[in-house]
Amino acid sequence: MKIVIIGNGISGITTARHIRKLSNHEILVISSETEHFFSRTALMYIYMGHMKYEHTKPYEDWFWDKNRIDLLFAKVAQVQAKQKQLQLEDGRMITFDKLVIATGSTPKTLEWPGVNLKGVQGLYSKQDVDLMEENTKDITDAVIVGGGLIGIEMAEMLRSRNINVHFLIREQYYWNSVLPKEEASLINNHIAAHHIHLHTNTQLKEIIGDENGKVKAVITHDGIEIACQFVGLTIGVNPNINFLQNSEIETDRGVLINEYLETNHPDIYALGDCAQFRHPKNLHPAVEQLWYTGKMQAETLAQNICGDKRAYERGVWFNSAKFLDIEYQTYGYMFNKPLEGEQSFYWEHPKGKIACRINFKATSKAVTGFNFLGMRFRQQTANDWIKNEMPLQNVMQELEKGFFDPEFFENHYLAIVEKFNTDYPEMAISVKKKKKFLIW
Ligand SMILES: Cc1cc2nc3c(=O)[nH]c(=O)nc-3n(C[C@H](O)[C@H](O)[C@H](O)COP(=O)(O)OP(=O)(O)OC[C@H]3O[C@@H](n4cnc5c(N)ncnc54)[C@H](O)[C@@H]3O)c2cc1C
Repeated sequence: MKIVIIGNGISGITTARHIRKLSNHEILVISSETEHFFSRTALMYIYMGHMKYEHTKPYEDWFWDKNRIDLLFAKVAQVQAKQKQLQLEDGRMITFDKLVIATGSTPKTLEWPGVNLKGVQGLYSKQDVDLMEENTKDITDAVIVGGGLIGIEMAEMLRSRNINVHFLIREQYYWNSVLPKEEASLINNHIAAHHIHLHTNTQLKEIIGDENGKVKAVITHDGIEIACQFVGLTIGVNPNINFLQNSEIETDRGVLINEYLETNHPDIYALGDCAQFRHPKNLHPAVEQLWYTGKMQAETLAQNICGDKRAYERGVWFNSAKFLDIEYQTYGYMFNKPLEGEQSFYWEHPKGKIACRINFKATSKAVTGFNFLGMRFRQQTANDWIKNEMPLQNVMQELEKGFFDPEFFENHYLAIVEKFNTDYPEMAISVKKKKKFLIW
């Protein structure tokens, strides 16, 4: 059987690797960004000089030949689903028995005046980083529009070269569409501490160019003009599916799939950033645009293609990211406000930078989720506690066990318990003080 995979990102490549582990099928991976798989999450480190592109490739170039995974560096222009064939941009035709669509995302943009000026760009691909290298050479001032995870990465990248950064966000607090106000406000302060000018409640109206067609300023909705030679657009990403028009594969925001990652066409599957679940489980996003979910979906899909059919089971939601040098981990469904019938316990270190939140059901007190900032928590522990609906009081008693560095945490654990006992005297717990020393 010949399996063709479009896209050599984490979703496409993990599918290929797992199909190879399970079978002898012929595998061809077609991709147009780079010849080999690389880690997209490491792109920022190339710009910052911590890594070279070569270091972001998780597998040596010989790996693919050795594992009989054929690679083709080309762009797919069209899919002819019924005929089971693809047309490449250069006109070549490729046939398949089974097709996997794993084409990722493209940066969102809006029709702002000046959006096509030189020096205005998004950040998603290897080519975007190369372009950013060119666009930011010898510049002094940059504007970033949109305050999500990629926006803050871009700010960090630019600051690493001492470029003055203006960060425009629509909300009052950074990423407040996801983060509760306390965490978001902590990150606001952290952004300011990194000498990034955060413009809250601010939207872009227009980008102004100079006589050479290069960006020279932006104007906000409030009429404020900010001089800059670079504009980063980081208002989110869209599934990369334009090439599927007229393919008879059903799409909405992304390629529509069921829980087996099957499209409306037999023998055609989709996964990763480009796919959209027709019937997402309650509270689950229909489009999962995360590295680790792409990997998990791929492992399931490989099993399905190789005959061991199973539904994709995401389990307890988790994610991790970094806000400049503050690590963030989240487990369970944690939104900017607790869900109905839930309450929230929050502790923050007096100096900011370190915080933890635990959500729980108001009646049963079962924990439903965690946010950690500036401290690392074991995923398995959080996962088990949420899954087993462990009561908050027990969680507080055991919390210390989930931390990677108990010595570091010991100092904060007592402070967290103290706050907990003050907030919830009816559930107060007692812990033995061990040694006392200060980290900060
Ligand atoms: C800067 C940045 C930082 C990120 N950091 C994190 C993070 O810390 N944690 C996290 O969970 N997620 C992170 N993400 C998101 C994560 O990288 C994506 O969710 C993940 O890479 C998606 O994988 P994928 O395989 O579905 O798609 P992609 O990685 O996008 O791969 C798809 C590939 O298909 C190719 N392709 C598309 N169309 C065609 C076509 N017609 N013909 C041929 N080839 C085609 C594309 O060029 C691309 O190479 C980050 C993303 C970015 C941009």
